[in-house]
Amino acid sequence: MAKEKEKTVLITKDGTRHDGRKKEDIREIKFEVGVLDRADGSCLINWGRNKILAAVYGPRELHPKHMQMPDKALIRCEYRMATFSVPERKRPAPNRREREISKILGEALKPAVFDYLYPRSVIDVFIEVIQADGGSRCAAVCAASLAIADAGVPMKDLVAGCAAGILDGQVVLDLDDVEDKEGDGDLPFAYLPHTEEVVLLQSDGIFSQKEYKEALDMLIPASKKIYQMQRDALTNRYSRITEKVIETLDKEKTPAKSKEKKTEPAKKDSKKKADDKKDKEPAAEKAEKKKSGKRILGKKKTSPKEKAEKK
Ligand code: ADP
Repeated sequence: MAKEKEKTVLITKDGTRHDGRKKEDIREIKFEVGVLDRADGSCLINWGRNKILAAVYGPRELHPKHMQMPDKALIRCEYRMATFSVPERKRPAPNRREREISKILGEALKPAVFDYLYPRSVIDVFIEVIQADGGSRCAAVCAASLAIADAGVPMKDLVAGCAAGILDGQVVLDLDDVEDKEGDGDLPFAYLPHTEEVVLLQSDGIFSQKEYKEALDMLIPASKKIYQMQRDALTNRYSRITEKVIETLDKEKTPAKSKEKKTEPAKKDSKKKADDKKDKEPAAEKAEKKKSGKRILGKKKTSPKEKAEKK
């Protein structure tokens, strides 16, 4: 008889999860802004074992023209999972889940952008999940909003979010892949911390009113914490740019100085050589004059006698 697969203990009675986290702990998050040279804006997020890259192109003219909106820009989002992002090879063609996530992420990003500033334009947001480990849509929306900011698009706010879930009747934050698959519910959430506008809220599984409230009470402080990390990542990016500008300006100044330093002695040398030549020539002429006992003039004059002889 085949052995039944052992069920993972998702959470113990004292609230310790299978990876050692407590109920309200989120995984380690690292944002890197401006990682791609070709895109207008980009961001790489490492959230636990999730690795997600967001790239933004635009605002640029929207083609085909019939899709253009006369009063605002279109935020077009594409969420894709790499074939190697999950344990078993994923088919490369976009599936229903990817289409759904693309749509909801585009809708979540829209309220954060001053889209009326770019009529008839499009802002393309490409999201590539390189490695997935649960909670990828929340990680993706955080990274995408930073990539839009990196592209220099005026924004109302960044989008920050996280997911909550239910494990054996206990509400927890930030489910990983195992918890997502074996748990009893998943509640992805994202909002604009400044205006407190909720831009993404989905629910998979059944949440009682009490669980729902408990989840939101955990999600809002967690999202604020993530928001601070996003702001730090942006500040870090712009301090790097400032450093680069200062470095370039310094480089531009330094060769000019060194040229001056180099050319000055060279000029001095050539001047000195010319002076030496001037000094040396009369000295040689003087010496010759001393030897021959004749006056040395610029050109030897021919006497009338010599002229007559020549004729
Ligand atoms: P989210 O990633 O936002 O939590 P889901 O709840 O739909 O979205 O997916 C949960 C996790 O399931 C993903 O993060 C990923 O680790 C895994 N997953 C998604 N699609 C596949 C797939 N085709 N094959 C294997 N695992 C997948």
